[in-house]
Amino acid sequence: MLTTNGQSPDPGAALQGQVFTTRFDKLLGWARKYSLFQYPFVTACCGMEFMSTACSHYDIDRFGAAFPRFSPRQSDVLWVVGTVSQKLAPLLKTVYDQMADPKYVIAFGACASCGGPYDDYSTLQGIDLIIPVDIYIAGCPPRPEAVLDGLLKLQTLIQDSKQEWGS
Ligand code: SF4
Repeated sequence: MLTTNGQSPDPGAALQGQVFTTRFDKLLGWARKYSLFQYPFVTACCGMEFMSTACSHYDIDRFGAAFPRFSPRQSDVLWVVGTVSQKLAPLLKTVYDQMADPKYVIAFGACASCGGPYDDYSTLQGIDLIIPVDIYIAGCPPRPEAVLDGLLKLQTLIQDSKQEWGS
């Protein structure tokens, strides 16, 4: 095709604003970080703060992380929210093991991160003793702003991770 002055049109100019280029792994990281399905493993008072983060004042939906799933097979982010007793610990490990890869873990609050105020024989002194943790959110309980900050940090971590797909 020729333009009215007899020259070929610039293909780059024709596509400007309509096409962009990127790498597939970057695209995959972008898609993964904004389509998080949460498994809320909620055991104690931090759960109130978790719920308030999901409500309209803070609206976690804005960050692409709205939908809780109560099946580990449909979840990619495990939120451990509250105190985990030694008795409960094997169940938490089972839930983590049943999640499909890639999967991520957030320790929500002091109890999940390090046992919190319960320095005793019956409380697990941090969930990283049994499963890997990607993000720790400090506080007893953490404010919703801290929760959202933790979520944003996880999304950055996901975007920057090596993306694996296929088998
Ligand atoms: S960190 Fe504090 S608010 Fe959260 S579950 Fe433990 S005691 Fe409760």
